[in-house]
This record gives sequence, C-alpha cells and structure tokens, in this order.
Amino acid sequence: MKGTVALITLGCDKNLVDSEYLLGAIMEKGYLITSDVRKADIIIINTCGFIRSAKQESINTILEMARLKQKGNCKLLIATGCLVQRYRDVLLKEIPELDAVIGTGDFLKFPDLIEQIKGSKLSITENQNVINYDIKKRINTFKYISYVKIAEGCNNCCSYCAIPQIKGSYRSRTIESIKEEVELLVSNGIREINIVAQDTTSYGIDLFGKPSLPELLKALVDIKGEFWIRILYAYPTNIDDKLLEVISSSPKIVKYLDIPLQHISDRILKLMNRPMNSEQIKKLIEKIRNRVPDIAIRTTFIVGFPTESEEDFRKLIDFVKEYRFDRVGAFKYSQEEGTYAASLKPQVPEKIKQKRFDQLMRIQQLISKKNNEKMLGTTITVLTESYDPKSKLFIGRSQKDAPEVDGIVLFKGEKCELGQFYKVKITKAFEYDLFGEVVVPLEKKAFP
Ligand code: SF4
Repeated sequence: MKGTVALITLGCDKNLVDSEYLLGAIMEKGYLITSDVRKADIIIINTCGFIRSAKQESINTILEMARLKQKGNCKLLIATGCLVQRYRDVLLKEIPELDAVIGTGDFLKFPDLIEQIKGSKLSITENQNVINYDIKKRINTFKYISYVKIAEGCNNCCSYCAIPQIKGSYRSRTIESIKEEVELLVSNGIREINIVAQDTTSYGIDLFGKPSLPELLKALVDIKGEFWIRILYAYPTNIDDKLLEVISSSPKIVKYLDIPLQHISDRILKLMNRPMNSEQIKKLIEKIRNRVPDIAIRTTFIVGFPTESEEDFRKLIDFVKEYRFDRVGAFKYSQEEGTYAASLKPQVPEKIKQKRFDQLMRIQQLISKKNNEKMLGTTITVLTESYDPKSKLFIGRSQKDAPEVDGIVLFKGEKCELGQFYKVKITKAFEYDLFGEVVVPLEKKAFP
C-alpha cells in the first residue's frame, strides 16, 4: 500500500535529524509526504520522552491524531521516538488507536514494516539506536542550516536524567561518515553545520578510547566552502586545551560554545552527579574566555532540583550575575521515574520552581541586554536566512546565535541574497536581538 505520509517531529534537534532520515527512507519507498495531517493516509509522530512536559505534549499529539483517525482519512497511526522507547510496553495498551510503536533504533525500518502493520498491532523497540545513517536519503528541514548528529546515547549518569535509559550507552559515528555527510550538506547549499549529540565532547570515546572531537573538527574544517561549524551540548569535563585550540584557530568554527552546567551549588552538583564542583566550573569558564577571546557561551540551568534551598538558589543567581553568560536557558526540575533524583526528599514545590525560574530568566534578560549593548557600533558577520517584505528587513544570525534557541539579527540592506554571509553594522540592541545595516560594498564572506 503506497500513500501519503505526514511526520510530526517533537522534542530536540537530535529527534529532528532522525525525522529527516525517516522522511528520506519513506520517500525512497515511493510514499508521498504531506505536512497536512488531514490529507495523510499514514501519520507518524516522532515523540519526545525526556521530561514530564515533553511527554505530555507527545501524548496530547498522539490523542489529537487519534481523533483525526476516527474521522476516517488516516488509516495508520504510528508512534516512534523516545516516549515509545521509554514506555513501549504501556503505549499500545493505553492508546488503542495506535497501530504501531517503533523504537528509536528501528525507525528506519519503518517503510518495510508498513505491510506488517495491516490489521495487526506492531511493537518493535528492541534494537539499539542506529547511528550510521544513509546520508544520501536525508530530507533537510531548513535551507541554510543543518544539525549533524555525531553520536547517540550517553555514558554520563546525571541523577535527574532518563536519557541513558532511553538512548543507551555512547556510540560514535565514524569520522568518515560524518565528513561525507557534511560535504554533501555543504554542496547542497547548507551554510551552518550544528554539531549535536547528547554529549558532543565525548565523541570518539568508544571508537578511539579517548574523547576525539578535536580530530573530528579538524577533518570537517578541511572541507572546502564558506560555512560555519557550531558545537552544541558540550560536556564540561571534555573541554580541554586541544579542543579550545582547534576552536580558536579555525575560522570555520564559530566562537560559540553551548555548555549545559545545570547548577553551581556544590551540594546540588553532587546530588546531580555532575562531574565538576563550583571552583572547577568557574576555572573552566575563565580558561575558555582566556583561550578563545570574544567567545559566546551558552549554558543551561535546572531550578528547583530536589532539596534545593534558598541559599543554593542564591549561589546560582550570584554566579549568573558574576559570570554574565551570553545565552542562558533554564528548566524547572522534572521528577522522572527511574532516576535517582526522583527519590530525593524534599521535592521542591512547583510554585517555588516557577518563582525561581522567573527570577533567573529576569536577571539573564538584563544581562543579555547589557551584553547586546556592547555590540553597538561594531560590525559583525551575519548568516542571512530570511527576508520580511512587510518590514523590508533581512533576518539572520551572528556567530553568537544558535538556531532556534538564541537571538536574531535584523538588518536593512539591498541586493542581499539569502543563505549568504554579510557584514552588518549594529545600530540598535534589544534584550535578545540586534538591529543593523549591511555594510557596503557587499562582501559575501563567512569569516574574516
Ligand atoms: S550528559 Fe545530558 S544526556 Fe547525558 S545523562 Fe547528563 S543530562 Fe542526560
């Protein structure tokens, strides 16, 4: 049975990569793709099972599509992704409208499994995650940027995190397969490669017996073309001199690092089973800023971790005020069954979590504004991604802005092309975004 497939992707950029491969595999088998679920014969939901709010969103989406199936057009409703991997045994029982649940290690088999689903429920979730994708089949979501997943799984055992249970232990792709993929993406017009994994800085630990992200990056910067490489999800312990040397010496690698730190109170860091204490974290940030001047650092914190006291939270606020990160994301702690932290007492009430979340983000908003004001009058390189005919403004991002999570740069310009790098002089600064004018004569250069 061939037909039309709609694929809904929830969760993180790593899930998006999986969906892009799944779309390629489906199209290769002769199915049509639609973004309109009402027109689809088959609806696939690539779910997220990381924390409570994400799980709820996945379940709500499945139930919403189940209602659509009852109305008739959709004949097959299939769930894949992390919620399936985590709750594989209950999902089919709990949601009878589902025809199949396919785990994160089997989703690429999906096009061949469709025939098996006819008339009988299917549950396949045994396989560990594939990592060696067939790169030629990928359907890219974005025109000028792409996420490249370099590894799957995680060997770190943060006490609040269920990902190692879902994704298994750390498995790296080969340098050759990653390089081949980046070459193909760049030849197809991609201008920014975002390196992702649960922990990018442990890359190669299974293949080469030691963290080898610097070696991978050296292979990628050799690829011809004007494009940026951005490192996301760096784990603090593997950010060493070698890595900082490669970042500072390679124009292609943007001066940006995403390092989730989670907290700064030593007592909480210990309960989180995080690898560094507060002194070590502070030294690391100072070292990064010394070795790579002008680097933008993004980090993420969890507020309301079990037993977190006002004093612990105060330490976090003081740290954020003192170290003035360029970009900060925050999560309210989510009690995840099967994790050690879920058993800790007392759990922090939701109201307190929300109050601390709001306070932290308010303080960061002021810091971000001040940081942006320092950009006034400077000229920066911007990757131009879209144009707004109403405001007649181009929209892009600087090296300091990761896609989808950080700010944007709006600028005035003429004859600018999308998917190109331009020099932009900054004339206005907002909390998260910048405004400017393109520098003429136009120079299409990704790096100085
Ligand atoms: S490093 Fe990230 S994915 Fe791994 S256990 Fe910690 S929080 Fe989870």
